[in-house]
Amino acid sequence: MPQSFRADYHVHTSNSDGRAGAGDMVAAACRAGLEEVALTDHGPRNIGVGTSSAGVFLRLKRKVATWQSPGIRVLVGAEANVVGLKGEIDIPAAVYRQLDLLLVGLHPYVLPRDWPAARELVLANLLQERGRRWRERAIEANTRALMAALEKHPVFCVTHPGLGMPVDVESLARACARTGTFWEINVGHLYQHPRELAMAASYGVRFVVNSDAHQPATVGRLEEGWRLLRAAGVPLEQVINLRH
Ligand SMILES: [Zn+2]
Ligand SMILES: [Zn+2]
Repeated sequence: MPQSFRADYHVHTSNSDGRAGAGDMVAAACRAGLEEVALTDHGPRNIGVGTSSAGVFLRLKRKVATWQSPGIRVLVGAEANVVGLKGEIDIPAAVYRQLDLLLVGLHPYVLPRDWPAARELVLANLLQERGRRWRERAIEANTRALMAALEKHPVFCVTHPGLGMPVDVESLARACARTGTFWEINVGHLYQHPRELAMAASYGVRFVVNSDAHQPATVGRLEEGWRLLRAAGVPLEQVINLRH
């Protein structure tokens, strides 16, 4: 008997590349029976899909605060991009400190902060199919930058670890466990292998299962996450958004 999830902490709105406004996404979360939903648009340096500026998050936060009894707990956060090898992200601390949660992820098409980041976080990833050297270089840079971001910022979860940008699962899992950062099981992109999740779990990582919904129909649709958890044999006490 599959267990259900009480929250979805990764949802996009039309402030970035989502197809619906915040109100419609929250209404969908209510219909899905969730107790909590987080609106987490892309940071501004995500080329083509990012928010127009970090101020957008603060405006949404103020707007949500005016909603009368939406029937669900609504959080406003951000899915920040790692834009530097030392863990620099594209949401300033002055902004994320006013938000409810900070998600951090690697995306291939970002405006890097400097030349070393352009070479290692963008170019090496674009060339990773060209040979083992590039791939190893990408894994090293991706893992190092993400781990630095976890040390530098209060990150709630790493979004879709390894999606399109490979990481060293063992090192990242250790860093997540040490910093109390959750490992996302991303149902919007079903790319994760149970073996990787089992390995991450063995380091004591805790998981969050999110939809990464870009439209109302997929908010809170987390059933595939349950299947992956079971296939990987993840102990259920290591999953933070299951309904117990
Ligand atoms: Zn993402
Ligand atoms: Zn996302």
